[in-house]
Amino acid sequence: MARPVRVAWREERPARKALRAIQAERLKLLVYRAYEHVPFYRRMWAAHGFSPTDLKSLHDITKIPFVTKKEIADSLEQYPPFGDYQGDFRAIRIQASTGSTGKPKPIFHTRNDWENIAKLWARRLRAQGVTAGDIVQIAFAYTLFIVGFTSSEGAMRLGATVVPTGSGAVTPSERQLQFMRDWKTSVVGCTGSYMLNLADVARSIGLDPRKDFAVRVSFHTAEPLTEGMRAQIEEVWGCKAYDNYGSVETGAPTYECKEQHGLHVSEDAYIIEVIDPDTGEPLPDGQEGELVVTTLTKEAAPFIRYRIGDITSFIPGACVCGRTFKRIAPIRGRVDDMIKVKGVAVYPTDFEPSIKESGLFSSEYLVTVWREGHKEFVKVSVEYVGPEGRRDQVSSRLVAQLHSALGLRCEVETLAEGEIKRLSEAEKRIKYKRIRDLRK
Ligand SMILES: [Zn+2]
Repeated sequence: MARPVRVAWREERPARKALRAIQAERLKLLVYRAYEHVPFYRRMWAAHGFSPTDLKSLHDITKIPFVTKKEIADSLEQYPPFGDYQGDFRAIRIQASTGSTGKPKPIFHTRNDWENIAKLWARRLRAQGVTAGDIVQIAFAYTLFIVGFTSSEGAMRLGATVVPTGSGAVTPSERQLQFMRDWKTSVVGCTGSYMLNLADVARSIGLDPRKDFAVRVSFHTAEPLTEGMRAQIEEVWGCKAYDNYGSVETGAPTYECKEQHGLHVSEDAYIIEVIDPDTGEPLPDGQEGELVVTTLTKEAAPFIRYRIGDITSFIPGACVCGRTFKRIAPIRGRVDDMIKVKGVAVYPTDFEPSIKESGLFSSEYLVTVWREGHKEFVKVSVEYVGPEGRRDQVSSRLVAQLHSALGLRCEVETLAEGEIKRLSEAEKRIKYKRIRDLRK
C-alpha cells in the first residue's frame, strides 16, 4: 500500500501553483488507492468507463464520474452492514452521519484519517484565535456524530485545555453554564442555536452572559450559521463566533478565518468544485451551484466527486488574511430544498430578507405552491406582529418587495403570531422545511 498522505496543517499559504501540484499528486494517489482498495469505486468506474489511467492532470478530475447520496445508500443496501465504499483498510473507528434522510451512513477511519482530521481541526481553531492556555468547552455530542471528538483533538493539539461536557442531553444547560463560569471557559464549541439557548438559560437564572462569563471565541458547525445568528451570538456573549462547514463524510474541509468573509477550503486535503446541478458542468467563481467534494487524503471511505447537495459559490479573489486557500460562500441551502416556480429557481432562504425588512413580521414563514390548470400560484404566509392599523399597508409592500427580489408574483397571507408554528407542527414538518409544494 502507498505511504499515507499527511496534512501539513500549519501551512495555509502555499503559492497557488505549488498547491495545484500538491492536489494533482494527491488526486492521483487517491484514485489509484481507491481503485485498488475500494470495491465501490472499481464497480462505479467500470460502469462509467473511467479508468485511473485517464487521469493525466488535475484538469482531468472532470472525467471522474460523480458519486451521489443515492449510490452510497444503494451500496449500504446491497453490501450490508457497511456498504462496499469503506475499502479493505484497517479502520480504527466508525463514525456515522445522523442522516437527515434515510439511514445513518457509517464512515470508517484509519489511524491516518483520524490524525488528518485532528490536524485540520487544529488548523480551523488556530485560524479562529484559539491558543494554548484556552479553556475549550465542547458542547457537541460525543456520539457516532464525529464533531465532538475531532474538535477536541484539534484543540488539544494546539495546547488548549478541553472540557468535554458534550451536548445538553448529557450535561444540561445549567450545568454547562456552571462549568463555564467556575472554570472560566474562554472558548465554546457547539451549534449556533445552542449557543443562543445557553444565553437564554443564563439570563433566566439571573446571569449576564457578557459580565459573568469569560467567553472570547465560539466555534460552530453542524447547522448553518446565518449572519443574523452570528450577530446575535457576538452581541449577547461579547465574543467572536465562527462557522465551519463540514460533515461526517467529508471531515473538516472548510473554516472561517478572522475576516469572517467566506469559508476557506483546506485545499491541500480537499478539492471542492461548484457545478451546475442540471448539467454537472463546473461553474465560474461567483456563480452559485452544487458543491462537490473530493477527500484527497482519506484512506477508508474516501469520497471522490461526491455530490453533497449543498448550494454555494466560490468567492472571487484572495482573502485579506493572506491565506491562499480559496473561499466558498456560506451554504445557501440544499439542492433538495430548491423548487422551480413559474420557471424561477428559488430556495426557502430567498424569501427571508424581504420578510425581515419591515421588522413587523416574526421570523416564521411558510411558502405554499400549488397549481390550478396550467397556472402556478405562490402564497407566502407570515406572522404579523406590528400595530393593527398598518397591517394592510405592510402586506402589500411585502408583495412588491418579493416581486422585485425574486421576480415572482406571490400572494401574502398575514397570520397572528404562533399560527405558523402550529400549522407546521400539525403537519410534523421539520424546522427548516419552509416550502409546502402541493403540485406533486
Ligand atoms: Zn481569510
